[in-house]
Amino acid sequence: MSRLKSILNYALKELVGYGFRLVGLVYLLKFRNRNTAVLVVLNYHNFSDYSNYAIRRGSLLSSGHQANFEKQAKWLKKHFKFVNPANFYEHSTDNGLQVFLTFDDGYKDNIEIAFPILDKYNLLAAFFIVSNIPGSNQWLWHDKIRYLVSTTRLESAKSELALKNLNLGKEPDPLFLKEVKDLESTLPHHRLMMNWDEIQRLKQHGFIIGSHTHTHSPLKFLSPEKRIEEMDLSRQTMASKLNGDISFFAYPNGLYDDNCHSLMKEYGVKYAFTTNPGFNRQNESPLEIKRIGINASDSIGVLLIKLFLNSGK
Ligand SMILES: [Zn+2]
Repeated sequence: MSRLKSILNYALKELVGYGFRLVGLVYLLKFRNRNTAVLVVLNYHNFSDYSNYAIRRGSLLSSGHQANFEKQAKWLKKHFKFVNPANFYEHSTDNGLQVFLTFDDGYKDNIEIAFPILDKYNLLAAFFIVSNIPGSNQWLWHDKIRYLVSTTRLESAKSELALKNLNLGKEPDPLFLKEVKDLESTLPHHRLMMNWDEIQRLKQHGFIIGSHTHTHSPLKFLSPEKRIEEMDLSRQTMASKLNGDISFFAYPNGLYDDNCHSLMKEYGVKYAFTTNPGFNRQNESPLEIKRIGINASDSIGVLLIKLFLNSGK
């Protein structure tokens, strides 16, 4: 996308979002008061500029957006009821729109920025951890690419296409994989992710810690043996480091296939989160929970547009 197009796209979203605030809220409040139960799961990653609109692309190494995230948290708390998905699917007789927050990958800024705000407003959330990463300076593949693009060592259009295709379920081109691998030695030794003490602190404060596999490999691309290895290692590590289970799970890159349901059941996963956007109903499978991707920098208007556009799914 050209820079001008991305600026216009961003400005349009903000403008429409601003105009949409009132009408969108009225619409969603109607949902809140309906006599069927609806679960809306919002999905966050980190608080860097990079994962936001392309024109705001900044350093992956610095985090921000505290003030805006607090606005989102306050607004959600004011208008909607929060629910633990376990209650929603198993016991709830509450009707109307209910909200739950999730954070994927286990970024260090989740404890620094999200945690104090979630704790202050008493909001329910789950954090999905890639279990071979805490305690190391390892980076996820997509972060390596983002950093290499922002430092102009990788070409941006090609890299964005590779990330986009991956999320659509297409395996990356081996030549591109090699190019990224060859540049790995140029990455800074900077800890991007939480360590086990920080994750433990979240758990002690009542937040749910879930699995995001052991190495963030999309299950869909793995052989049956490799799938078992990912799940075994994730379950063992979560048990030994946190004395926890993996009843909550998020599919890496949102990718799964028909065999994943039985795999989840075998490992005690009760709630598995996808990146398919939409609202969830109690009669749908809790092993394919839909989520709406939100950036910490989204204005309330943009958040409302995202909710509105996905409310029919
Ligand atoms: Zn992830």
